[in-house]
This record gives sequence, C-alpha cells and structure tokens, in this order.
Amino acid sequence: MKEQRAKLFYTPKNGYDRVDDQQRRGIERIGEDYKAFLNHGRTERCAVQYTVQLAENAGFVPYREGAPLTAGDRVYIVNRSKSVILAVIGKKSLSEGIRIAVAHIDCPRLDLKPMPLNEETGELCMLRTHYYGGVKKYQWTAIPLALSGVVALRDGSVVDIEIGTHPGDPVLTITDLLPHLGKDQMAKTAAEAVTGENLRVLCGSVPAGDPKEKDRVRLAVLTLLNDMYGIVEEDFLSAELSVIPAFPACDVGLDRALVGGYGQDDRSCAFAGLDAILSLQNPEKTALCVMADKEEIGSVGSTGMQSGFFDAFVDSLCRAQSVPLTVCLGNSECLSADVSAAYDPLYADAYEKANSAFVNYGMSLVKYVGSRGKSGSNDANAEYLGRLRRAFDDAGVIWHGCELGKVDQGGGGTVAGFMANRNIETVDIGVPVLSMHSPFEVVSKLDVYMTSRAISAFYRMAGDENEDTL
Ligand code: MN
Ligand code: MN
Repeated sequence: MKEQRAKLFYTPKNGYDRVDDQQRRGIERIGEDYKAFLNHGRTERCAVQYTVQLAENAGFVPYREGAPLTAGDRVYIVNRSKSVILAVIGKKSLSEGIRIAVAHIDCPRLDLKPMPLNEETGELCMLRTHYYGGVKKYQWTAIPLALSGVVALRDGSVVDIEIGTHPGDPVLTITDLLPHLGKDQMAKTAAEAVTGENLRVLCGSVPAGDPKEKDRVRLAVLTLLNDMYGIVEEDFLSAELSVIPAFPACDVGLDRALVGGYGQDDRSCAFAGLDAILSLQNPEKTALCVMADKEEIGSVGSTGMQSGFFDAFVDSLCRAQSVPLTVCLGNSECLSADVSAAYDPLYADAYEKANSAFVNYGMSLVKYVGSRGKSGSNDANAEYLGRLRRAFDDAGVIWHGCELGKVDQGGGGTVAGFMANRNIETVDIGVPVLSMHSPFEVVSKLDVYMTSRAISAFYRMAGDENEDTL
C-alpha cells in the first residue's frame, strides 16, 4: 500500500528536503545576486539600467534594425527607458516559434502628483501623491521612504532624481497619528484608516525668507531642489517621480533562507528570467526575456505588454528571416513569470491549502488567475502544461501547482492574457511571495533559484511536439 501511495498521490514537498549540496550553493549564490538586483533596480528605470549593464557584461549588444543576426547572437532593445527585451538567437528558423519569458519590473508605489508640493499648517512641506497599483495604504506610513525618477525639461534634457537610497542620504516619510489620539481612526476599517489624499510625504520643515510671507518652507524646498537639480516647480508637470521604500533588501530569518525587501513582485521573476538568459548559450529556438512595465495598472501604455513594441521587435527579427510574424507567434511559447500568493498561516482563511503556493516549495505553476469564476484569466492549455511538466521534471526543477487564494476571495491578473491574445501558448509561473504588494515583501531564495532553473529548462525544451498552428 505504501508503494501505491507513493505512486498515486501528489504531495509537494519542502524544497530543502530535496536539494543537494550543489543546489544549496547555487541558492546561496543566487541570493546574493538577487539582493544586488533588487537594490540596484528599485524602479523600472533603474531595473532597466542595471539589466543592460549585466547584459552587456554577458556579451549582449544593442539590437540594430537590419543588422544580420546568426545563431548564438545576443541582443537587447530598450523601450523608452522603462522596459527591455533580451534575445538570444536560436539555430532554428523563427517560423518554428520563439520562447518568451515575460516578467514585469514596475511595482506598487506612490507617484508624485503633477503639482506635488504643498505647505501644510505648522510649516511642514509635503509631497502630494497618487498611489500606483494595489496598495494597503496604512502600510506606507511611518517608514523611511525614498524619491526616485526623472524630470524632463523643456530643452529636451532629462534630470535624474534619487533621494534616500544612498548611505547617508536623508529619507522622506508619511506620518501617522499617535495611538493616544487614534480613537476615531482605529474605529475605521483598515481601508479607510489612511486615505489616498493623506499619503502625503514629509519633505521639509525649515522656512525661508520674510516671516510675514506665505509658503516659506515650500520656497525653501524648491530652492534646495533648484540648487541640486536645476528644476523649478513647473518642471514637475513633465516628471515621473516615485516614492518607494528607502531600505535595502536583506536576508530574513536566522537561517537566511528568505529575502525581504521592496519590489519583489515582480522583480523576483524578472531576476530569474535575467539569470536564465544571461547563461543561455546557443539555444535551438530563439529565446526572449522581456521585462515589462505597467503590469500593476493593467499592462497599459507604450511600455506595457499591450503595447505594439513587443510585436514590432519580433516582427523585425522575423523580417530578417522572411518569416511572417503570425507564423512565428503561432508557434511560440511563453512563460508569464509573475509572483504567486504564498500561503500565510497567519491568514489561513484566505487560502485553500491543497491549492496554495508555499514558500520554499520551489517555483509555482499557476494555470489560471482571474477572479469570480476565472474571469479575466488566461487559463493555460492542458497540453502545454503537460509538456512543461516534463521539461521541468527532466531538468530537476522543484515546482508545485497552485491557484491564487480560495474561490471568490479576490483575484488578480498578469500579462499572461495579453501574450495569449497574440496566439502564443502561455502559462503563469513564478515565485511565491509573502506580504505581496507591501513595502517589505518576502520570498525564498530557493524559489527564486528554481524559477531561474525552470526558465532555463523552458528555453532548452525540446520543441518538436508542437502541433500545427495557424
Ligand atoms: Mn506581478
Ligand atoms: Mn502585483
């Protein structure tokens, strides 16, 4: 009966009961590289810059339209400083399809409003914000915050602003009410206790000029900004400035198995894809690693996955081989690499245990996300999942299947649907995350490592089983 049980039951196991010494060293190595990626890539712009640096070190060169490419060539293309595609050209014709891993590098945060500066009563200068993506607003108060982004000037120049992330920098913060006076606030729901308009970031307190005049701290802060960056208040109208947590990523737990830090949805998967493609040599099929922007607000805009930029790039590759784009896409396969909700025993009621992702159980494979009856989900094809299972298992990847929380508890979306709309076989895979969308998300180093190994296995997967497609 014991044999029958072992043969018939599916029982995911903790990855640490399954990895060997060599894999443990791989996990440690990836943990350090991963924290460096998080600390350099704090916004989508920073993540693109750091990715380009790592890619060039690994032999990738900027893609040039019309330049001849041969098998093994490594190129990258940046879209408006906020998203990037890396490609390794395969031996086979693009008519046989390509392999694409897509992750997103934008993360929930607080963006400055077009007119952010506000002097409050008591001579405190604050920055008005409009949150980006799904945030629990109360989590953003009383923590050290940084400001990162760009200001585009009328003369065409672009000024980089980065305050609070370098050692010794001052930080910013959003104040919260003391518990002694919190009676009314504490009686509200968690959703209402901190309002969106109250997410105002304290940025200065020393007044300048004549005490009889108004807005003296605002004037002082603008003077400092003008000295540091040469900008005036109107320049905020053409800026992208984000307020993000100021603290760096670090190990969590006495055993150092976890990484805590901001932006791991979805830079954990972006890093895993990057790690996989940087070490990829001479694949059979052309391999793409896409780091997308704007996933957290619906993959919109010219840098999101609904944009034609991706298609234009693949079409450019295809034209060089005289292959119709539709033929290439129809034979292509995609891993939508995005994080999953790790089971949290403190909030067990939100999950259904048998179909949950678990920290340290390896990469998670998610057939569908969506909400209210899978609505808005990709819902991957069983045949595709079958082939992926074999590829992952043959490569020794530790992984498990799951869905996002219990039925009707909520839901979510990824880029998967937008890739599938292009007639590409697509499924969500990724790293389980605790405290997702909080300023301090937690993931397992083992799970990041296994997600990287899974994407490597995908890039190298045997590809002859493809059924005929349009
Ligand atoms: Mn995500
Ligand atoms: Mn997200």
